[in-house]
Amino acid sequence: MNLRSCHKQLQIGIVALFTLLTVSLSLKGQEVISVHQGDNLKSIGMGTSVKYDPHRFYDEKTIWDATGFQPIHKDIPNFPESKINNWLRFSCTNQTGQATLHLLIQTPNLPEVTVFKQTGDRLNLIYRAGDRYPYLQRQEDDVNFICDLHIPSGDTATYFIRVVSDHHLQLPMVIGTRSLVTGAGATNVFIIGAYFGILLVIFFYNLFIYFSVNDKNYLYYIIYVFFLGLAQMSSSGFGFKYFWPDQPGLNQYMVILTSSLVCMVAIMFAIPFLQQRKYAPKLMGINLYFLISYTMAIICDFAGVGFVSYIILNVNGFLMAFFVISTSAYISRKGFKPALFYLVAWSIYMLALIVYVLKNFGIISSNNFSNYALYWGSSIEAVLLSIALADKINTLTREKQVSQEQALEISLENERLVREQNLLLEAKVHERTIELEDSNRSLHDTLENLKATQSQLVEAEKMASLGVLTAGIAHEINNPINFVKSNIKPLQLDIQDLWEIIDQYEKLDFSVPVSDQLALINAFKKKIDLSYIKEEIGSLLQGIEDGAIRTAEIVRGLRTFSRVDETELKKVNLYEGLDSTLVLLRSSMPNNVQVVRNFQTIPPVECFPGKLNQVFMNIMSNALYAMAKKPSGETEYLTVSTRLYDGDHVEIKIADTGTGMPDSVKEKIFDPFFTTKEIGEGTGLGLSIVFSIIEKHKGRILVHSTIGVGTEFQIILPIVHPSN
Ligand code: ADP
Ligand code: MG
Repeated sequence: MNLRSCHKQLQIGIVALFTLLTVSLSLKGQEVISVHQGDNLKSIGMGTSVKYDPHRFYDEKTIWDATGFQPIHKDIPNFPESKINNWLRFSCTNQTGQATLHLLIQTPNLPEVTVFKQTGDRLNLIYRAGDRYPYLQRQEDDVNFICDLHIPSGDTATYFIRVVSDHHLQLPMVIGTRSLVTGAGATNVFIIGAYFGILLVIFFYNLFIYFSVNDKNYLYYIIYVFFLGLAQMSSSGFGFKYFWPDQPGLNQYMVILTSSLVCMVAIMFAIPFLQQRKYAPKLMGINLYFLISYTMAIICDFAGVGFVSYIILNVNGFLMAFFVISTSAYISRKGFKPALFYLVAWSIYMLALIVYVLKNFGIISSNNFSNYALYWGSSIEAVLLSIALADKINTLTREKQVSQEQALEISLENERLVREQNLLLEAKVHERTIELEDSNRSLHDTLENLKATQSQLVEAEKMASLGVLTAGIAHEINNPINFVKSNIKPLQLDIQDLWEIIDQYEKLDFSVPVSDQLALINAFKKKIDLSYIKEEIGSLLQGIEDGAIRTAEIVRGLRTFSRVDETELKKVNLYEGLDSTLVLLRSSMPNNVQVVRNFQTIPPVECFPGKLNQVFMNIMSNALYAMAKKPSGETEYLTVSTRLYDGDHVEIKIADTGTGMPDSVKEKIFDPFFTTKEIGEGTGLGLSIVFSIIEKHKGRILVHSTIGVGTEFQIILPIVHPSN
């Protein structure tokens, strides 16, 4: 990278050391530099004096007899100030036999260099160039300053050079024949050209690799190489020469701009390359500092305070080299191998920098190696970084391969585990299935048991109804039969009397007069009151007939009721069922209960008559129970009503004046096994059976109940069963 600024910093440090060494030579004072035939380029540093003129006090009219010129004691003068306006003075003799001599100032990018030749007490302008003047106006086509001294062979002349610079400066100056001077320029072009050649190759090579591996490290690197080239182009003066020769103002901006940019990109490149975030996260802030300060340098450059930018560049140049080298050393010690390449690359650049500085102080002789040390260093650095990058990519690829293999292994292992788990799971599922089947079976058994119990209970409920029914039948039949039975004895006695009369008539003896006998018979008739007997027999027979008819009636009612198991739908008159139920219940009816029949005419209803009778029986038994439970003993009413509900439905209401029930009971009365009765008194199945029967008839059953007032069951049935 471009560390010209950096080397200057180092130089400032080293300058103090060598000032001591060179001060002993300083007492010689100004001498005339003579150039002989066959001489190589001659450095004029030692023979030159300098007058600092920071306030631009002098001009070419006043400088020639100014006092206070200081001799320079070095081959390469060094001006550490940040803004320079210096007058340099030297004298030389041309003993080469050539028509003139040339001065070569080997520092491109000076804002202004002006050369005057002294003739008596006058200074004549013989040369003016610099960044402030178009490149094309230069006397010689060279990035360095080449000035014809206009000194014929054998002459001696004194020259004044005014040098303006906005940053501190090293000023290698040589004189010689034109061919030597331009020859040096050609070497310059050759070496720097070779340098750019190397950069170009690196640039395109890595660009190509970038497109194939698409790694962002490469992108940073090629941007870095690009800006490195641009920065070197600017600072070597070739940018000015080839790209913007008629834009003198631009050149001075370009040096700072491109140098700052290349440093910024170098930072950006180093972050991912060295994996600083991972290995040295605490140093990330320093990167930020560099990025910000280089941005500041660019801003100052364009704000017209370029000397500030140079200060920033110089300070940072040194800091950055130190930072990058120490960071890469630190990270490579932490075991990140590519950092080592980085360290070596930058160290080589530092080495080149030191060689360059040492050359400038005459410790190392000036030759193409030491003069261009920065270019060698920079190109070796760039190549090493490129190798480092390739190595890093290789390492990454290897790592990736290894991690892919590991991932494969892991996924195989996972697969194996999953398979094992699956087997386990299957076994578990099998086990559970068997358990489930078992419990399913036992549930099934329980259900079967439950069903059996339920049907037993239903049976029990039936038996209970049957019990009521039997008691009813017994009671109902008992009365008329008793009646019949009690009529038979008097009837037998009456018939016995009749038989006696008949006997007496049969015993009539017609051999004697019968009138006496007949008188006896009549007396007997009178005695037994035959007319009464006739009457009595009639009424007794009537009573027997009545009893028989009543019994027959009851039996018929029983038949109606006993259609319990009929499964066919039949059209029947519902009052018959209601009546026969009432008849059967009469015996178990408490004395204080009065039945109110409130039958309006309804058409025959299509139903399962036996089932409906069961409904009436269950509801009425409950009603009688509820009324019996009422403590009062007053007359209670069981009201049974029928009516046409609408065109398609009939309504049957069975109401009692019993205890009634609270809502909590009312909600549950249709639940199977719900009962409020004592054990043995109720099964809790009655109303649940009622509900299912009404459901079967597609009817509805509603309950209205008030505690202490009574309960009413309302049944609504379709006249025609919807299944038809
Ligand atoms: P069970 O008569 O065996 O108790 P039911 O299903 O026939 O079973 O009746 C359930 C419950 O409904 C009865 O225990 C009773 O509490 C209540 N219940 C039914 N009818 C009446 C009614 N007319 N008055 C008051 N409570 C009644
Ligand atoms: Mg009941």
